Amino acid sequence: HLTKRLAAVAAFVPPNARIADIGSDHALLPVHLVATGKIQSAIAGEVIQGPFLRSQAAVTQAGLSEQIQVRLADGLAAIHPADQIDTVVIAGMGGLLICHILAQQPAILKSIEHLILEPNVEEMAVRQWLMQHHFLITGEQILREGGHTYEVIQSRRQNKPVVYSTAQLKFGPFLLQAQAPAFVAKWHHRLVTNRRILANLARAQQPPQQKIHALQVENQQIKEVLHG
Ligand code: SAM
Repeated sequence: HLTKRLAAVAAFVPPNARIADIGSDHALLPVHLVATGKIQSAIAGEVIQGPFLRSQAAVTQAGLSEQIQVRLADGLAAIHPADQIDTVVIAGMGGLLICHILAQQPAILKSIEHLILEPNVEEMAVRQWLMQHHFLITGEQILREGGHTYEVIQSRRQNKPVVYSTAQLKFGPFLLQAQAPAFVAKWHHRLVTNRRILANLARAQQPPQQKIHALQVENQQIKEVLHG
């Protein structure tokens, strides 16, 4: 059984995709996808011994050692050309780490068609990376679980440039359109927090003008996006 967050990631995996789940930890995602028959096989990559052993144990316990290969490797190095992987999943890490992992192995990345990413923070950096590398965002989901807000981004390689506006990169092209309750709550909360910070900064002896300006710009962006 998957958490709400991992279920949202799983929902974006194309049926019969050949996936590599990088940073798999308990291998929950590939075990679920193979056990339910959505995919036939998978690679689970882990860079740290503990999570690697946990993944292996989970795969063995599920009786899926034939279908899921667990590899101890840094990022995309877990993928071998013979695997014919077409979909990479990276979930539950910061956006900057996700971008770093994607940038480390350009030769392997070239053969990847779909990226399904769930950055815990720095979502904008991930969308920027996708745009710069000609990946079109094909779906997004925002959800709340355990007091956190999570965003899941599904994307697909294009053979031409992809262009997004600053607002689309910051808020997410699909999330911006859908205005789901979790989206409105996230940005309303940010607006309120920024206003509180601005009120405090205004009382400072030497108000930091740059910081104040940045917060004002962000609040303006949020107000333009949260219609109604
Ligand atoms: N993907 C799972 C999920 O979403 O529930 C597990 C997320 S867990 C918080 C992040 C995992 O990524 C950790 O187990 C960590 O060891 C692994 N990790 C971090 N950097 C990595 C890298 N460069 N290559 C492979 N795994 C990495």
